[in-house]
Amino acid sequence: MPLRIYNTLTRRVDEFKPLVDDEVRIYTCGPTVYDYAHIGNYRTFVFQDILRRQLKYLGYKIRQVMNLTDVDDNTIRNSIAAGVSLREYTEKYIREFEVDCELLSLEKPEISVRATDHIADMVKLIQVLLDKGYAYTTDGSVYFRVAAFKDYGKLANLDLSGILPGARVDTDKYDKTDARDFVLWKAAKPGEPFWEAPFGPGRPGWHIECSVMSMKYLGPSFDIHSGGVDLVFPHHENEIAQSEAATGKPFVRYWLHADHLIVNGEKMSKSLGNYYTLRDLIAKGYRPSAIRYLLASVPFRKPLNFTFEGLHQAQQSIERLRNFRYRLTKESFPAGENPELQARALRGRQAFEAALDDNLNTAEALAAAFELVREGNTAMDHGEFRDADRGAFLDMLEHWDRVFAVLEDTDHAKLLEHGFVKTVTAAASDSVADARPDGGLAQVGTGASSTVAVESLTGEAIEQRVGERDAARRRGDYSRSDQIRDDLLKAGVILEDTKAGTRWKRK
Ligand SMILES: [Zn+2]
Repeated sequence: MPLRIYNTLTRRVDEFKPLVDDEVRIYTCGPTVYDYAHIGNYRTFVFQDILRRQLKYLGYKIRQVMNLTDVDDNTIRNSIAAGVSLREYTEKYIREFEVDCELLSLEKPEISVRATDHIADMVKLIQVLLDKGYAYTTDGSVYFRVAAFKDYGKLANLDLSGILPGARVDTDKYDKTDARDFVLWKAAKPGEPFWEAPFGPGRPGWHIECSVMSMKYLGPSFDIHSGGVDLVFPHHENEIAQSEAATGKPFVRYWLHADHLIVNGEKMSKSLGNYYTLRDLIAKGYRPSAIRYLLASVPFRKPLNFTFEGLHQAQQSIERLRNFRYRLTKESFPAGENPELQARALRGRQAFEAALDDNLNTAEALAAAFELVREGNTAMDHGEFRDADRGAFLDMLEHWDRVFAVLEDTDHAKLLEHGFVKTVTAAASDSVADARPDGGLAQVGTGASSTVAVESLTGEAIEQRVGERDAARRRGDYSRSDQIRDDLLKAGVILEDTKAGTRWKRK
């Protein structure tokens, strides 16, 4: 079935069809790299990841461009305060953003670009707008003349008649001839970075960055432009005006916007103390896969209410899926097959695919998987599951995970790779367990939210202890085996004795 998706531009659910054959060209407004991105930002980035994975699932090739806004008031202010160059300052947050994306299993866009690497292209486009009469200069800055672009307001569905040209609502800030006009090029200010241009030294406005970088890599007309709902106006409206005024061609066919994330029913803000970066949640011991799951679980056009209870449930939901897959691969079942059960697995897969095709209804797609897990577990418990039924269920889970990407337990490896956890040797494991009675991903040192140092056992060390415990149980030394189990629990490792042997997992 083709993908149907809500398009902000047409204000309805449209059937998706790319402009050119089987390739989908997508532009994503990326982060402004002046600080760590917060979980509201990641709600949008996870939505965009689900979108691109679903398009790939449907057989399309993807060409996605994401920009990194590395010049704006915030990046300039913070780099000056830190006493480093803009480049050096933003470099750090670009790297941290890339780490966050990896932790959340977000696929890399084919092209990631920095605004400051495209200043010459921006100057060119601004010159085109000046030459065509869509822009004018005042005191070294360049503004877009909204009155000259008749379609202005079509994305945000605005009635701008109330704002009259010359109303000058913010004349203190800019010398604009029309309150609606927006800046394309800001005249250089003392002490701030600037670039040379025929219309005077300065730096680009935010909106022109995205018009330039999207069209450079995707052409004047492309398929999808997406971002958070707060970008609809003025950012995306202004992008349309600049791009279409310059090229005379339709800019983007499908505009997709993710709704807000709220925390416990309230707007997330630093002053309310409910503001979280990804690092904040990891420091509290939550797993990146659970955060990804939670952020993906609400359909993109609905507000997402983030709660720690929800995050806890997300972690449990992932466990249920992994446990079911573990049973499918490790448990032994009677020979033969149960065609009715296999038909149900296929129906489950179809239900999940239909849910995602229906405006990326992730909630329904998750429900389809859990329905199947429930049916599969029941059949196993009642002795109805047969050896040859595994394939159909594993196939469903494998397809489902191409989009949701949470079944493989890669959290610990990724946290280790990026220095969020450090491992200790088997010899030191007892003292580690003693040092941390609460176990788990205990925090042993914090600095800025970038440094989350936690200790944990290596997989090898855990395997060794599990082996010792098995040996103790075989010789009937249950106090020793209980001791090892308790030690591991203190170190954040849970043991499960299953029909297929002892399975361990991290808390
Ligand atoms: Zn943008």
